Amino acid sequence: MSQPQIRPTNATEWINRHDTFVHPIDNLFDLINGNTGSGFDDYNAMTEAIQDFLGKAIVENKTVRALGGGWSFTNVATADWILNTKMLNMVFPIRKTQSLSPEYAQAPEDLLFAQCGNSIQELNDWLKKNNRSLKTSGASNGQTIVGCFSTNTHGSAIDTGSVHDFIVGMHIITGPNDHIWLERRSYPVVSGTFIQIFKTRLVADDELFNAALVSFGSFGFIHGVMIETAPIYLLECYRKKIPLDNSFRHIMETLDFSNANFDPNGNERPFHFQAVIDQYNLAGGAYATIMYKRPYTENYQPPVDDLNKAGPGDDLAAVIGIITDIVPVLTHLIVSNLVKRSYALYEGDLGTSGEIFRNNNIRGKLLSTAIGIPLDRVLEVNELLIELNETEGPFSGIFSYRYVKGSAATLAFTRFNPTCILELDGAESSGTRNFYAAVWNELDARNIPYTFHWGKIHNLDEARTRKMYGANMDNWIEQRNKLLSPESMKIFNTRSLVDCGLDKILPIV
Ligand SMILES: Cc1cc2nc3c(=O)[nH]c(=O)nc-3n(C[C@H](O)[C@H](O)[C@H](O)COP(=O)(O)OP(=O)(O)OC[C@H]3O[C@@H](n4cnc5c(N)ncnc54)[C@H](O)[C@@H]3O)c2cc1C
Repeated sequence: MSQPQIRPTNATEWINRHDTFVHPIDNLFDLINGNTGSGFDDYNAMTEAIQDFLGKAIVENKTVRALGGGWSFTNVATADWILNTKMLNMVFPIRKTQSLSPEYAQAPEDLLFAQCGNSIQELNDWLKKNNRSLKTSGASNGQTIVGCFSTNTHGSAIDTGSVHDFIVGMHIITGPNDHIWLERRSYPVVSGTFIQIFKTRLVADDELFNAALVSFGSFGFIHGVMIETAPIYLLECYRKKIPLDNSFRHIMETLDFSNANFDPNGNERPFHFQAVIDQYNLAGGAYATIMYKRPYTENYQPPVDDLNKAGPGDDLAAVIGIITDIVPVLTHLIVSNLVKRSYALYEGDLGTSGEIFRNNNIRGKLLSTAIGIPLDRVLEVNELLIELNETEGPFSGIFSYRYVKGSAATLAFTRFNPTCILELDGAESSGTRNFYAAVWNELDARNIPYTFHWGKIHNLDEARTRKMYGANMDNWIEQRNKLLSPESMKIFNTRSLVDCGLDKILPIV
């Protein structure tokens, strides 16, 4: 029998996963669940412990951030006091309809209530054992569920959306004196019984929910989330070289597959589509990663790990990471050869979503920027990149395009419907950073609308955030002020929030 602990590690600096920054901090705390034999009691005791902790932060005037997997390339998870949530990994399957609102249209097995620190890998493993699956994820699986959706992590499931789009309820600790269950009024999920078990208070509010979804740790401590899952399925995966002709370009800017003629599935609309263009070998065609959703059967062999090759679900970061540990300065020629060698082609490999999108071992000093653009500007952006590579490059990376359905979250960077996400993964260097800056400037100069992934490299300040989100920025600030007291807002007002002009505490009227 043990009680929950918030244990100081006395760390004085924090380094993110890819060593792209070091931040001085006052302390890092490990959160450890109690073990009384009752999961509900342990969860509720941790809620109380976190409330006490937030009270102390207010008294001592410290800023606070919960930390997920530490995978973000930006300083979204840094503060004076950082809370390591990775050991908060209880799951509570919903077994009874008494836990659900009578208006919830789906079945209990469609839902899983997960504590915030469950990694995507842990969830994938649990779900597979229970014949279920996440609806989508990023390419890799080392993020925690809350860390993952808080920055709008996405894959390329073209008609599905991003990770936060399948979150239907959040248990948020807003300060020392309150915690709430937040869901959409238009989409009721839980019953009074569920609310009582977790000793919380229901807030049903669409605007508040949409704002809290992509809020990078600044709407309080999200202790648990309700995930809507899918019946288990397989992905049939292909990675092909396809001529960069008018037919392929048409797909890239429309997602119209009616003349795709991809071997062997013809014009079937895929579940997942990604295009990768090597600007150093345009004549060699584009890499297309294409996946089809298939019914689950036990009669298949999942792909085998090969650390020198990118698996069918891996992104370019996995390829670049293979070499950055060994070769400190990457030239574009090294990268181009590496891509040829390691960005392997696949023909019909099968696996569950968790077996395809599974890499949590990406290494190296990597940089990544991800830019959301409307579909009809994709080819223009691709031409712009090829030109900039001549004048401002050479960029030691290549160009990747993933696609998702637009999102209702107030600050979703996947706000265009659909959104194409241009990703530029490269080795950490001033050359890579200079190329990013040149791309962002040129997008501005050509008046191409765009947004930034909140967890990847960007140059957001208040003016740029406003240009990208307009009235949604004000709405997000209003919703935050509706939820948090001024004292609570102050502890979550970290550097990254101030930089983007999102830290405003509005006068109480
Ligand atoms: C190798 C690699 C591959 C990647 N692949 C993809 C990809 O395919 N697609 C994509 O979109 N992105 C991708 N990313 C980016 C990554 O998914 C995001 O940066 C994501 O937010 C990281 O999740 P994390 O769990 O590491 O969270 P962290 O980076 O630790 O935190 C992210 C944010 O979540 C907040 N947070 C965490 N837990 C809580 C909590 N309990 N309550 C409140 N706030 C909380 C933090 O404060 C922070 O603001 C990748 C990054 C890496 C390094």
